[in-house]
Amino acid sequence: MSEPDIYCPHCAWRPLGTSRWLCSHHMGGCGTTWNTFWTGGVCPGCGYRWEITACLACKQFALHRDWYHWPESDAHHLDRTRETEQPAGQ
Ligand SMILES: [Zn+2]
Ligand SMILES: [Zn+2]
Repeated sequence: MSEPDIYCPHCAWRPLGTSRWLCSHHMGGCGTTWNTFWTGGVCPGCGYRWEITACLACKQFALHRDWYHWPESDAHHLDRTRETEQPAGQ
C-alpha cells in the first residue's frame, strides 16, 4: 500500500512531526493543540473533524483532504483504507 505525500496545496510546505494545530476557541473548538495529520483532521480533545486545515507556513486555508497527494487516482478507496489503519495514539 502506498502512502500519500502530505503537503500544502498552496506552497508545498510539508508538515513536520513537531507541527501543531489549534482547535480554536474562536471557531467553537476546545483549545487542544495536536498534529492534525496524525488524526485525519479530527481533534483528539473534542472529536470535531476539521474540514479546513491552515498551513503553518503560508497561513492559507485548504480542505484537509487536499493536503493528501496520492500517487494513484483511486483516492477515495485509499482514503477509506487509511482510516482503518490509524495508529492508537490517544
Ligand atoms: Zn477540539
Ligand atoms: Zn502553505
